Amino acid sequence: MDETLKILLVASEAVPFAKVGGLADVAGSLPKALRRLGHDARLALPKYGRINEAEFGLRKVLDSLPVPAGSDQELASIFESVVEGMPAYLVGSDKYFDREEVYGYDDDGERFVFFCRAALEMLKKLDWRPDVIHCNDWHTGIIPNWLKIIYKDDPFFADAATVFTIHNLAYQGIFGPELLEFADLADYGLIPLPPSPPKLEGRGGDDLSGLVVLMARGILFADVINTVSEKYAQEILTPEYGERLDPILVQRQDRLFGILNGLDYEVWNPATDPHIAVNYDVAPLLSPPTLGGRKGGRVGNKLALQRKAELPLDADLLLIGMISRLADQKGFDILVEAIDELMELDLQFVLLGTGEERYHRIFANVAGKYQGQAAIFLKFDPALARRIYAGSDAFLMPSRYEPCGLGQMIAMRYGSVPIVRSTGGLADTVKDYDPATGQGNGFAFSDYSEEALLAAVERALKVYRRQDTWRTLMERGMRADFSWQASARKYVELYRQALKFRQGGP
Ligand code: ADP
Repeated sequence: MDETLKILLVASEAVPFAKVGGLADVAGSLPKALRRLGHDARLALPKYGRINEAEFGLRKVLDSLPVPAGSDQELASIFESVVEGMPAYLVGSDKYFDREEVYGYDDDGERFVFFCRAALEMLKKLDWRPDVIHCNDWHTGIIPNWLKIIYKDDPFFADAATVFTIHNLAYQGIFGPELLEFADLADYGLIPLPPSPPKLEGRGGDDLSGLVVLMARGILFADVINTVSEKYAQEILTPEYGERLDPILVQRQDRLFGILNGLDYEVWNPATDPHIAVNYDVAPLLSPPTLGGRKGGRVGNKLALQRKAELPLDADLLLIGMISRLADQKGFDILVEAIDELMELDLQFVLLGTGEERYHRIFANVAGKYQGQAAIFLKFDPALARRIYAGSDAFLMPSRYEPCGLGQMIAMRYGSVPIVRSTGGLADTVKDYDPATGQGNGFAFSDYSEEALLAAVERALKVYRRQDTWRTLMERGMRADFSWQASARKYVELYRQALKFRQGGP
């Protein structure tokens, strides 16, 4: 049962072609990791205007591919680019994709439905028959739906299983019912969605009836569904995290799995990172403190960060770093409540982030009020981010919810000990340090509250004073395996599971 699989990963964005968020990292890294395991994984994404043909060596493989679009048809061109041995197919259309941005247009529903239809039609023309079509987020939610309806009796897809991965349940692709005409599904009508629950704090309570929710279609029709951590897969079954779709997720609970995203260990490597002051690896950390300074090779990075942040140069003061979108999801409401008490503690704080305007205002004030203790960078700066991962002692992620989270994994790889709220991927990767047993790799709190956050920081501060214990925590993080290889193996299992369900027939 371990023959090689043919997998088409379909996504709206993928590194190196187009990146808006974390989905692009997954879509770029996972197929490559699958290929390293011997599988024939390929990628399909739209050919946006910003994708340079020469830069990626694009070659047109199909011209004027007819794609059904409502009562009509539109033509698509299919381009191929080979990335480190992996074929990537880019769907070109002057009408839909020859635009600068990836998202944010009034016709996004049509655009991505068209992309999906073109991707399926392309497979037939190229005569490449995947065993598994791996769909990602709402943009591709229509594919599992089609395979169970309009392609149901198409022999080309007779054995193809679908996997639907939820990267962010908050974005659901909600459109008016006319999208069904365009998608050739008008005859089948709307699918009944749960009545709108009472409005939850911080979430919309719009009524979904009468609307097309592409995310819901992916969930309802895929052979298997997964989210990007095991804990988040459980959490979304509840109204608190389910974003109004929890009733249908519960309905499909037996098909719902969780697989943590991996980290690209080549890209994130303190031994080779050209942006940090001093390169280091886990090995020198083991040398006596006298050889490498208080925290081995990392101390040079800490001092460099303090200099950059205009904080007192002090190797012994706990320096907490944070790099994040400034959004409620990331726990900024409780952090703001806690900030004055936090600043009473013996520590320094460096924040890098951009996002909601009100947080820009609040943290600009924090910077003024706590000059010399807190440094706030309100910008997007990948090089500075690396210097914070390398120079901070601890890394804060107090998220309200977190489907997977990359920040804590990068921090651990760089030897910064995570302080997190135990939710989603944070719960799966960070185990609270228990002084009684010595187990754990960071500090985790459960209650989403200012008090719980402060208590976790205070616990970290206590342990930080015990150099040997702290070093143990750093080493555990640095030695952990959050690589794509581990995650890709789990995806292969998931694909086989999907094929079994497909053969068994729902
Ligand atoms: P999310 O994708 O929900 O924003 P993750 O923790 O999964 O959160 O990933 C965030 C990524 O973006 C990390 O790699 C982090 O370093 C990076 N990042 C976030 N904000 C900034 C910023 N202002 N400057 C540079 N990098 C940032």
